[in-house]
Amino acid sequence: MTKKYLYLFSEGNENMRAILGGKGANLAEMTNLGMPVPRGFTVSTEACNKYYEDGETIAPEIIESVYEYMGKMEKMTGKQFGSAENPLLVSVRSGARASMPGMMDTILNLGLNDVVVEGLAKLTGNPRFAYDSYRRFIQMFSDVVMGLPKSQFEVIIDKLKVERNKHFDIELDEKDMRRLVREFKNFYLANMGEEFPQEPKKQLIEAIKAVFRSWNNERAIIYRRKNDIPSSWGTAVNVQEMVFGNMGPTSGTGVAFTRDPSTGEKKLYGEFLMNAQGEDVVAGIRTPQPISELATTIPDAYKQFVEIAQTLENHYKDMQDMEFTIENGKLFMLQTRNGKRTAAAALRIAVDLVDEGMITEDEAVMKVEPRQLDALLHPQFDTISLMQATPVSSGLAASPGAACGRVYFTAAEAKAAHAKGQKVILVRLETSPEDIEGMYASEGILTGRGGKTSHAAVVARGMGCCCVAGCGALKINEREKYFILDDHVVHEGDYISIDGSTGNIYIDVIKTVPATISGDFARFMSWADARRRLKVRTNADNPKDAAQALNFGAEGVGLCRTEHMFFNGDRIKAMREMIVASNSEQRKKALDKLLPMQRSDFEGIFRAMNGYPVTIRFLDPPLHEFLPNDDKDIKELALNMGITYDDLKAKVVSLHETNPMMGHRGCRLAVSFPEIYEMQTRAVIEAAINVNRTLGMAIEPEIMIPLVGDVNELRYVKKIVTKTADDIIAEANVTMHYKVGTMIEIPRAAVTADQIATEAEFFSFGTNDLTQMTFGFSRDDAAKFLEDYYAKRIFESDPFAKLDTVGVGSFIKLASDLGRKTRPDIKLGICGEHGGDPASVEFCHNAGLTYVSCSPFRVPIARLAAAQAAIKEMHK
Ligand code: PEP
Ligand code: MG
Repeated sequence: MTKKYLYLFSEGNENMRAILGGKGANLAEMTNLGMPVPRGFTVSTEACNKYYEDGETIAPEIIESVYEYMGKMEKMTGKQFGSAENPLLVSVRSGARASMPGMMDTILNLGLNDVVVEGLAKLTGNPRFAYDSYRRFIQMFSDVVMGLPKSQFEVIIDKLKVERNKHFDIELDEKDMRRLVREFKNFYLANMGEEFPQEPKKQLIEAIKAVFRSWNNERAIIYRRKNDIPSSWGTAVNVQEMVFGNMGPTSGTGVAFTRDPSTGEKKLYGEFLMNAQGEDVVAGIRTPQPISELATTIPDAYKQFVEIAQTLENHYKDMQDMEFTIENGKLFMLQTRNGKRTAAAALRIAVDLVDEGMITEDEAVMKVEPRQLDALLHPQFDTISLMQATPVSSGLAASPGAACGRVYFTAAEAKAAHAKGQKVILVRLETSPEDIEGMYASEGILTGRGGKTSHAAVVARGMGCCCVAGCGALKINEREKYFILDDHVVHEGDYISIDGSTGNIYIDVIKTVPATISGDFARFMSWADARRRLKVRTNADNPKDAAQALNFGAEGVGLCRTEHMFFNGDRIKAMREMIVASNSEQRKKALDKLLPMQRSDFEGIFRAMNGYPVTIRFLDPPLHEFLPNDDKDIKELALNMGITYDDLKAKVVSLHETNPMMGHRGCRLAVSFPEIYEMQTRAVIEAAINVNRTLGMAIEPEIMIPLVGDVNELRYVKKIVTKTADDIIAEANVTMHYKVGTMIEIPRAAVTADQIATEAEFFSFGTNDLTQMTFGFSRDDAAKFLEDYYAKRIFESDPFAKLDTVGVGSFIKLASDLGRKTRPDIKLGICGEHGGDPASVEFCHNAGLTYVSCSPFRVPIARLAAAQAAIKEMHK
């Protein structure tokens, strides 16, 4: 039997997302529920994958099936594809397994040509509508299939509008539409060297191919990388009978959510445009009306829509984001999906759905995207600073949060400024999916056009990025890089502030402060915490960060990088003295200066962590990192240190290494200079004794030795630590326990972890170095060439951000097994950057680690990711 690649909507259901994509599966489900869905079929994601396997060609058997299914649609609709008498027109729309709003392509009104358009005009008695549809089709087909930029067609429209002294597309009449069709076709011919294709079957196959291709357009690839969507999923293509929102005053189209996607409040939220087609709403070309006004515009359709919306929400047990069209007063549903929402709304909806008895707590925990919590922790304006500022204008409050930054007018400039460390506000007339990278690089987004469901609003909300949309007063001159707002001229690089919660825009620098977490958060996170097995610690090397993390729910410090403490103020001086010392005695003298500072740092962290375990990692980086490089700085430092330039220069040269990341660093430093770890041990142990004594705590410090590759190395270094520690404890006449463990960050340590565990009382996977050493990619340089790996689809994600579970993950599993063999109760953690990445956290859960450790702001994310991993495991 030949493989089935096509499915009528009536053949599918909501559980077939993998094959039909989200849109296809939900259209099928709505069809099954008896809702008014225009008829159609889905070309499966498997057909998309086959298209790529076959070298970007559609197999003849799939083309045949498409024609066969068009035949079925003709029977069901009683219309004919390509006929002028009773034409069947279709939309061709992408739809992947995970929703990727606006990332891929759509073509509407397909099937029109010079003859069919006349038929449509006659049949509907509405030639303006017919020619409006045709010009839209030429524009979309040219853009999506042939790569002729849509903006060039907009130029033609704008010219006509100026000539006709009209403001909006809807003011153009039939004659204008006919003229646009003529001009568009001429433009097509001039640019493509051939007539606009008139054969509907050809149009259809080319459109399907274009949607398949759009799976691999740049913005879709970036979106997938940011959202962990594998490229192997592919997109489905939905071919659906057209219904027309642009047929006149009783037709329209809209988008609505069953709950407010900004706040989560339970009320129908959305907007619609009369006499328009779908892309007009999303593109924000005209500003739409709130959905509630549909109740007076077309009451019957509104009533039916409200009922359907409720049914869909009850059915999917989640907030729905729906697209609809009204054709001559009759309602049609074009799409439903679980709506994208802000983090605050996600929490509120999850909690409300539990309270409404719709879902269980487990289901609620699974509903919130861990990465989204980030947005809750993002800045708001400082109240005092805000009081001193006056908004010059306002737009729609499209995505909450506050941002202050420098203005840039294009995505590319925003990205470049961000790369230079600037905070950026991207200002655009309207955003489009091509702007996605620039949007990711921005603190906030401000647009002149578009409603709350415009591209900018939807994408910003998903990213947790603050956005003010549709500020009609904004006059942007993108070419000359300035905008005018309320008589203020703001140039590229100038500061503005925007508030995505109120819509206010300020030509001021307003201080931002960290977010406060709402009541829903605590309740929701308590459900998550009750379900997770993994502990969550933090990477912190000062009391402030440690306290912040504790506030976010950290259950200890998993990595305190002690070298960070050596850069502040006077410390770097003592550190440098220690490095340039020519013998052990001089080195000890310098270390004696560092001791009290280091001890008080540790006391601060122990105090902040209030009895939770603290892992202190001893000096790790190569020593040259603490010395200057260029001659001018070396001269200055030599003068300050009272040594000759030549001596210092010689020291710098002697420390130079060809591969410093694989050089004299980590425990190797202690092999050469045991005094360093002796001092650090003294600082840790004395700090713990002091805090235990003064605060009545029972801290058991965990000392962690970095970059161990051989058990003998660890044995040697551990002796330095235990000898020093035991002497201090004996001298102080106290009982105190401490642990000595190691990082597993060198492949050799992982494969000999059974031996390492004879000495190490705990392991912490340093997956930054472990990734570096496993791939042989320099962690400092790889970003440059990894871009080529993504572009050429060799890699889908950055292995330094998302754990390579296949390679690096194997080392983690092996080392965990070997470690447990030697020491069954060994504590296992991870402290590389991956500790806060949800997919990596899931891996750590499955590998049976004890804890993950991540930066303070990612602690809530890790807590939720750990809970989701536990729930997934339970339901396997
Ligand atoms: C690691 O290598 O993963 C790690 C946590 O240590 P560092 O980043 O300090 O090398
Ligand atoms: Mg490391």
